[in-house]
Amino acid sequence: MSEFRYCKLKKEWILFAPERLRRPADLNNKKDIHPSVLIHHSCPFDAGKEEFTPNEIARVSQNGKWKCRVVPNLYNALSIDVQAGSSRDSFFEKCSGFGAHEVVIETPSHKRQIWDYDYNNFANYFAIIQERVINLQKDNRFAYLSVFKNQGENAGASMEHSHSQILALPFIPKKIKEEIEYKKEYYKEHKRALLDDLVYEEIQYNKNIVAQNSEFIIYCPYASEFAFEVKIVSKKKLSSLKEFNKSDLSALCDIVDDFFKLYHKALGEVPFNMIIKNAPYENYNDKTKEYYRFNIEIKPRIYKQAGFELDTDISINVVLPENASKIYKESK
Ligand SMILES: [Zn+2]
Repeated sequence: MSEFRYCKLKKEWILFAPERLRRPADLNNKKDIHPSVLIHHSCPFDAGKEEFTPNEIARVSQNGKWKCRVVPNLYNALSIDVQAGSSRDSFFEKCSGFGAHEVVIETPSHKRQIWDYDYNNFANYFAIIQERVINLQKDNRFAYLSVFKNQGENAGASMEHSHSQILALPFIPKKIKEEIEYKKEYYKEHKRALLDDLVYEEIQYNKNIVAQNSEFIIYCPYASEFAFEVKIVSKKKLSSLKEFNKSDLSALCDIVDDFFKLYHKALGEVPFNMIIKNAPYENYNDKTKEYYRFNIEIKPRIYKQAGFELDTDISINVVLPENASKIYKESK
């Protein structure tokens, strides 16, 4: 069973999930075949292998065939079957591993990667994530939803088959809480969302923009942490996927689809982390969209972060965003 332990030094929770360690070995022992064979011939995410995944939570189908599925993570770091709550442990404090951990199987095809997707693939992908954002909120024990994709081994992926993950937490992580507080304060003072102002400034600065359409903008942030990092931000007052109507979703799919084509042309099959940022569930109300703006962060993992970053939280980025955006644009 997993558990959160409170670090009194950093004032934040650490998630211990020893079960996750058993992932590859477990699969290996059970099937008694080499992991590489397993990956290529016996992937549980492929069409026709549905029986190898736990009970399906959601699916998008077309012509009677599934295009996108959500299933519980078999090697879950959090579980909805345990009681939520914290307790003392001698000098320390811990919290049960209550939460949800789901996998979004983005395509029935084993080889198709995100840069091979067409508009329709993205439409199915964002539709199913929107469905999860809406439905997980019905459980009022969840405070925050983390939605992300690890692409490639260097970005932390353990399965080749294209997938994303959704983790629902019973609290808002410290880093996110601080960010929300700052955004609220900024709104109080300026009556505008912080990210709306940053987008305005990037447009005026005009060196980092990669692309934009009527509803979204994509740019390499002036102070990017990672080389070739981009941020996709809603230009409309949207704070979460659950507020998106059909045309908002369609504009999002257009820009993400175009971007991944550029990404592949400019960088090749470079690993990355993609984080889909929605306003937290906790304290969500009509005012949220005044200060919180829906956005997506894509962080390529070309160069490794190391000791200096761990000590200081200062990132060393070897590519200036104005050069990164130029290289993306020249790939059009
Ligand atoms: Zn597969």
